[in-house]
Amino acid sequence: MSKERPAKPRALVTGGAGFLGSHLCEWLLGEGYRVICMDNLRTGSLENIAHLREDANFEYVHHDVTLHIEVEGELDEIYHFASPASPKDFERIPIPILKVGALGTYNSLGLAKSKCARLMLASSSEVYGDPLVHPQPEEYWGNVNQVGIRGVYDEAKRYAESITMAYHRHHRVDTRIVRIFNTYGPRMRPDDGRVVPNFVSQALAGEPLTVYGDGSQTRSVQYVDDLIEGTFRLMHSEETRPVNIGNPVEYPVREIARMILSLSGSRSEIVHEPLPQDDPKQRCPDITRAREILNWEPRVPAREGLRTTLDWFAKQPHRPQVPAPHG
Ligand code: UDP
Repeated sequence: MSKERPAKPRALVTGGAGFLGSHLCEWLLGEGYRVICMDNLRTGSLENIAHLREDANFEYVHHDVTLHIEVEGELDEIYHFASPASPKDFERIPIPILKVGALGTYNSLGLAKSKCARLMLASSSEVYGDPLVHPQPEEYWGNVNQVGIRGVYDEAKRYAESITMAYHRHHRVDTRIVRIFNTYGPRMRPDDGRVVPNFVSQALAGEPLTVYGDGSQTRSVQYVDDLIEGTFRLMHSEETRPVNIGNPVEYPVREIARMILSLSGSRSEIVHEPLPQDDPKQRCPDITRAREILNWEPRVPAREGLRTTLDWFAKQPHRPQVPAPHG
């Protein structure tokens, strides 16, 4: 008689063809999961998951999670990562952003409830808005302009957190909430509009780096591998309160521009453009909770992560090569 081996755990990743979702799918496959990657490709891309599609444990399902979600068979974990997340998208597609935060989270929670699956919500440091407390601990309630341009994303994530906690308290769904701070790495869209892909693409093309405002606003940028590891640890912890996952090393934006110029050897100059509306002046996670509960902290220094990102962008066929260093 053959001994039955325990089945591999099965996870659904919504937004699995996006920047973060695709890294998460890859990580889960590496951990021995069967993975369903669900995406409507509004901002995700099949290119991001092309290397996973041969894997027998990987399945791609084209679906918009703002509509009812059907998955056959058992499910152990749901990672709800579907959402446009670039500030450019806040003006371009505000209503889909609100719908995926509200209806997409509602549908994902309904699925978690029916499958008795654990659900992780990908939330965001944007729930803190333009913070008045620095660095931001999870207890801080934030400072959000709900009628401003960024409000669509901030409020979508705040609503998503509320409905997740309601399902947790009222329906006893097993939930986790990760508050993701600025994350960068390979597979970001070059036209994504966020600071790292913008500066990297501009530096590689020899075009001016567009620093918005005087560049004194700060961001703490984390490399994608650190985020995925923290996310996975949180999913397998018993912590049901929100947890910040981000790199607390903080840089003024103009310093990020200088770092990318020096790492790429680009001769591009820095130009200043107007600061977008409600652009947070400072953002930096307090990661005490993640340190204490998950024994997690970021490991990849900015210069190393940016180097890897530059190399990846330079290798993309439709992207320019790294210019020769000065002199
Ligand atoms: N930023 C910039 N130049 C760019 C893109 C962004 O100076 O080409 C600034 C932006 O104004 C913000 C910071 O970089 O202060 C981070 O912007 P991003 O869009 O990456 O994310 P955010 O943290 O604002 O959501």
